[in-house]
Amino acid sequence: MGYDITFHPFSRKEFSYYIEDVIQAPSEYVSRLAKVHSDREEQAVLSANVYSRIGDFIEEVKMGDSAYEQTVGLAITAILGYLHPYWYARGGMLSALKTYPEFKSIFKEISSIAREETRFLFDQAHNQIIGNYSSGTYVPYENIGALKMLLEDEKNHSIVEETIGDYNKESLLNCLEYCLINRLDLLEAADIFIPATGEVSTYYPNARAPHLNNIMNFENNSKKSSDLTTILEEECPRCLGKGHVDWDDIKRLKQELRWRPGRCAYCNGTGKVEATQIEKVAVDNTYLTTTRSEKERNLLLNNDTDTLEKGALLEQKTETFIEEVKYLHFIGQLSPSQIIDFYAIQFKDNKVGVAWKSDMLQYIEKIITKE
Ligand SMILES: [Zn+2]
Repeated sequence: MGYDITFHPFSRKEFSYYIEDVIQAPSEYVSRLAKVHSDREEQAVLSANVYSRIGDFIEEVKMGDSAYEQTVGLAITAILGYLHPYWYARGGMLSALKTYPEFKSIFKEISSIAREETRFLFDQAHNQIIGNYSSGTYVPYENIGALKMLLEDEKNHSIVEETIGDYNKESLLNCLEYCLINRLDLLEAADIFIPATGEVSTYYPNARAPHLNNIMNFENNSKKSSDLTTILEEECPRCLGKGHVDWDDIKRLKQELRWRPGRCAYCNGTGKVEATQIEKVAVDNTYLTTTRSEKERNLLLNNDTDTLEKGALLEQKTETFIEEVKYLHFIGQLSPSQIIDFYAIQFKDNKVGVAWKSDMLQYIEKIITKE
C-alpha cells in the first residue's frame, strides 16, 4: 500500500453548491471558481486542472473511457481541499477498512447524497481507492463518531495497524474530530498530495500531516468567498430539513392534488434555505417543483416577473382543472373513465398513451375521493 492518502472533510451544502451544480451544468464552474478562492492565480490553476475539465470528465466516464474515481472523483477531492483542511496519511487507506465486518456499515455510497440529476454519475463510483490518483471511500457525518470509536477501540488494534497504520492513526483521528466539530462528511483520496515529490493538486495551506507537525491545527485556511454555513441557515420549511418531500409534508401544505413525494425543490434537497428565500417565495408555491429547470428555479427565487406570472397561470390552470373534474363527476355524473375520454377530445383522433391515461385516472380519482 504505497498510496499517498488524504482525508477530505466537506459539508453536503458544499457538495451541492461546488460540485453537483457544476456536474449538472458544467458551465457553472465559472461562478463557482470565483467563490472557491479569492486569489486569481489559484483560480487559474484550479480551473485548468479541475473545474473547466469536469464536463469532459463526465463524458469520459459516460463513454466508459475513464473510471469515475480517477476523473470526477479526484477532481472533487481537489476542490474540497480548497474548502477545508485535509489530513495526510502515508499508505493509511480508509478504503481498506471496508472489508472488515466491524467497519463495513460505516461506509456509504457517495450516490446516497447525490441529487436525482447527478446520480447517474455517482452511481459509477466504486467508493474506494482503485489505484493511483483516485478518489476513495465516503463516510457520512452520521457515522463519523462511530468510526472514531471503532478506531480507538483496543479490540480493533491489529485491523487498524494493518490498514491505517499506527503512525497515521492520529492524523485520521484529528480529521474525524474536525468533522465532528463542524458536522462534516469525509471523502478519501489518493495522490492528490504527494510530499515526497512536492506534487500538490489541491490547496497546500490546508494540508495537515504528521511530517508537517500540524495535525492538531483545526484552522481553516480556505479563501472561499462565501461561507455557505452562514448563508444557508434556516431549516427548509417545506421538507422540514429532510431534503425530500413526503406525503405528510404534502398533506401539511395541502398540495395532495399537485405534488408527489420526491426531492424537495424548495431547498434543492439540502434541507436548508437562505432566510431571505422564505420571505421571497411562499413555501407552498405550487410552481416551484423539481420539474422546473435550474434556470427557472433561480428566476423564481429572484422574483422574476415573467416566471412568477407563468407560475400563477399554471396554478390557476390547475385549479380550473380540479373544479372541472368535480363538476363533470358530481354534477355531470360522469365516471372517471368518461372524464378521461372527455379530456382526450383535445388530442388528434382521441389518441392518448397508456401512461397518460393511468396518470390521469389516478389524479381524477384523487380529486373525486378528496371531496
Ligand atoms: Zn426542503
